[in-house]
Amino acid sequence: MQKIRAWGASAAGKPLASMTIERREPGPRDLVLEILFCGVCHSDIHQARDEWSGARFPMVPGHEIIGRITKAGSGVKTFKAGDLAGVGCLVDSCRACAPCKDGLEQFCEKGPAFTYNSTEMDRKTLTFGGYSTQIVVDEQYALRIPAGLDPAAAAPLLCAGITTYSPLKQFDCKKGDKVGVVGLGGLGHMAVKLAASMGAEVTMLSTSKSKEADARRLGASGFEITRDEKTFEKLARHFDLIIDTISAPHDYDKYLRMLRVRGTMVVVGVPPEATPVHAHTLIGGNRRLAGSLIGGIAETQEMLDHCAKHGIVSDVEIIPAQQINQAYERVLKSDVRYRFMIDIASVRS
Ligand code: NAP
Ligand code: ZN
Ligand code: ZN
Repeated sequence: MQKIRAWGASAAGKPLASMTIERREPGPRDLVLEILFCGVCHSDIHQARDEWSGARFPMVPGHEIIGRITKAGSGVKTFKAGDLAGVGCLVDSCRACAPCKDGLEQFCEKGPAFTYNSTEMDRKTLTFGGYSTQIVVDEQYALRIPAGLDPAAAAPLLCAGITTYSPLKQFDCKKGDKVGVVGLGGLGHMAVKLAASMGAEVTMLSTSKSKEADARRLGASGFEITRDEKTFEKLARHFDLIIDTISAPHDYDKYLRMLRVRGTMVVVGVPPEATPVHAHTLIGGNRRLAGSLIGGIAETQEMLDHCAKHGIVSDVEIIPAQQINQAYERVLKSDVRYRFMIDIASVRS
């Protein structure tokens, strides 16, 4: 076991603080990454505050990790020491069940090993995320970072990027499609960039008027305020696809009514409470309400390669770990433009 410096929560809702954790000794197929940057996802806040219940403490959040490989085991084939590599939301799975074989490791029937707030496949060893100086990961669960992508700005692709890329692909986003993105935060800003890169006509649906210029710069051709009820009338039966990234309770029916016949709304945001949906809203137009959870390893690599090809990265605000608790409060106030990024040098010092 190796002792590693980290920032984490000792119990639900406790402010994050400096702590020491233990990582496993690397095996022959493992990479050791010296972590350079780790993004701050809203899921980190939900989990550090145990809003989805069942959280495990101590918890070191962080699943948008980019690091430099300092050691590659003797059996490692696709990486070498000195390479940049990424770790997203998964660090292992059973590798044998149908979802694992289909590249949907996030739905491993044995339960995947998530990067934090989870256990290794031994179901005993707690996993710890990227708000830390080092991580040990099997090469099959690490991602290649294409040359030319800035490491700090590329890190959010590993969660916010794949979580929005995957539903756009699943629901066949293509040139000319009318796509609505709900909520301009970490996921939302990636959804705008990615949908625009696929040729869609993107409308940003936001509660924050102050984000309009940014939304247009990111690639949206329309911007509407969802605090204004007229928006929902104006855009009734308008969209082919809506990607809903809102992290708090809201009325799904209102958004669903903006779908045209056979349109799909994909929920990726995770409000802690259940949300009622009226059958009339769905059947009146053969509308579809879908969900999507991150993406498998192969699809995450495909997304990174797509981003390199289209010059897409995240808009980040770099902070030291010492500012993490203030950053969480700003995320909760929808005041992030558009991803906080921890410079892990601050955890080392
Ligand atoms: P974020 O940066 O906080 O963005 C969420 C955005 O939603 C805010 O910026 C705000 O945008 C809007 N919003 C917030 N509260 C709202 C409210 N009460 N009513 C209406 N709009 C509201 O969060 P994120 O990191 O993008 O994550 C978003 C959600 O996705 C979280 O619940 C997170 O846990 C979840 N998530 C899911 C997956 C998955 O695999 N499905 C993966 C990662 C994250 P405006 O200011 O534009 O209104
Ligand atoms: Zn995330
Ligand atoms: Zn499996």
